[in-house]
Amino acid sequence: MDRREDRAFPLIFERSQKGRRGVRPPSVGDVDPEALFGRENVRESPPRLPEVDELSVVRHYTLLSRRQIGVDTSFYPLGSCTMKYNPRVLEAAAARFTALHPYQDPETAQGALELMYELAEYLKAITGMDEMTLQPAAGAHGELTGILVIRAYHEDRGEGDRRRVVLVPDSAHGSNPATASMAGFEVREVPSGPDGEVDTEALKRELGPHVAAIMLTNPNTLGLFEKRILELTEAAHQAGVQLYYDGANLNAIMGWVRPGDMGFDVVHLNLHKTFATPHGGGGPGSGPVGVKAHLAPYLPVPLVRKRGSAYVLDEDLPKSIGRVRSFYGNFGVLVRAYAYIRLLGLFGLKRAAALSVLNARYLKALLKAKGFRVPYDGPTMHEFVAQPPEGLRALDLAKALLDAGFHPPTIYFPLIVKEAMMIEPTETEAKETLERFAEALGEAARKGLANPGWLEGTPYTTPVRRLDEVRANRRPVLRWTPEAE
Ligand SMILES: *Cc1c(COP(=O)(O)O)cnc(C)c1O
Repeated sequence: MDRREDRAFPLIFERSQKGRRGVRPPSVGDVDPEALFGRENVRESPPRLPEVDELSVVRHYTLLSRRQIGVDTSFYPLGSCTMKYNPRVLEAAAARFTALHPYQDPETAQGALELMYELAEYLKAITGMDEMTLQPAAGAHGELTGILVIRAYHEDRGEGDRRRVVLVPDSAHGSNPATASMAGFEVREVPSGPDGEVDTEALKRELGPHVAAIMLTNPNTLGLFEKRILELTEAAHQAGVQLYYDGANLNAIMGWVRPGDMGFDVVHLNLHKTFATPHGGGGPGSGPVGVKAHLAPYLPVPLVRKRGSAYVLDEDLPKSIGRVRSFYGNFGVLVRAYAYIRLLGLFGLKRAAALSVLNARYLKALLKAKGFRVPYDGPTMHEFVAQPPEGLRALDLAKALLDAGFHPPTIYFPLIVKEAMMIEPTETEAKETLERFAEALGEAARKGLANPGWLEGTPYTTPVRRLDEVRANRRPVLRWTPEAE
């Protein structure tokens, strides 16, 4: 079958008609491009651009934008991603700073530095940490920064050669073991117990003078709060082991409990999940890292500090691991987080967290009533991991949801649950939306059980149907070239 005939949207190149124009740029007059740019920089033949009229361009991109599924168009319950709605007013706040330049003299950017200083103070208060860097550009980048800080700490104490192991639970986000191994550590997996929480005894057996750190997230990847956390962190500290808290998903606990009070030494946050920057699409993000006082000397430079009434960039940290990013982090993301925290206040943050938990518990109850199973069914926090009714595949149900106008949940993660569907509704969705979603998923499951062929054929309404996902990953074709035709 000719895919092009089949496709609702031809590429803009395929709309091209020889000689058609949408715009006529002004003539360059008698400027000599070769003299201006140098002969080697001037092209010999015109670029192969599509020749289209203005209306065709407008329609093309407008129709494409209407094929998007995003938070602005529909429910997006992608677990471990916190795809919540972010108020537009925060975009306006970020846009106020676009005239700043990173090479500006700090004396002329006092407002920006004040904002960074105060944001760090808020995040310290929310996490229970003593010092905070805003430099890392993403969650995984924050992890790497935090683990390098821990490594520097052990090295400084003369234990760097001995402490070579990082412990990670089997339910962990994939970035945790990846981070530890990138920082040169050996990763050892700790099993979860039957209740979905870390197996405390197994973890204690692994502790010792060869262990540098444990990376945990709480609530964990099954959406469950680790109730034995104080016992765990205390045992780890007795063995000289540092506790790393993956705080990418702080939505469930912000304002209620603090990683610092649970005994953690390092925490990273994903401002582009919890604090008002949309997550997805490849950035920009921000993964601030907070540490307890004993790790502060190793943080990246510079840190924003207050000297009298002035804000300064402090480069004077002799034991610092150095810079982890150019300039000062993704500043626009910091502005949104600052404005969001100011907008909500502590009471608002607590309420957002409580509603995210309430929504997850409500949706879990709705899906259980429709025959979905929840293997680790403890007190759910901001997300839960469900399994389809016996005989159905998570992938097929995810595809069916596309036809119903919903973004699918995260599937096949965490790895310890077969046919996992990891669902995170967030606090910003209305009760009716959750009900419509449960209805759609229940209906897909019901029809799939009655007629497996129908379910395996979904989606029916998208421009392309089922992709060869392995090939799309291994050999992504991201650019159109005429030769590819
Ligand atoms: C999203 C996430 C990360 C990684 O964050 P990025 O910004 O995508 O690098 C790490 N840990 C957990 C638990 C996450 O959900």
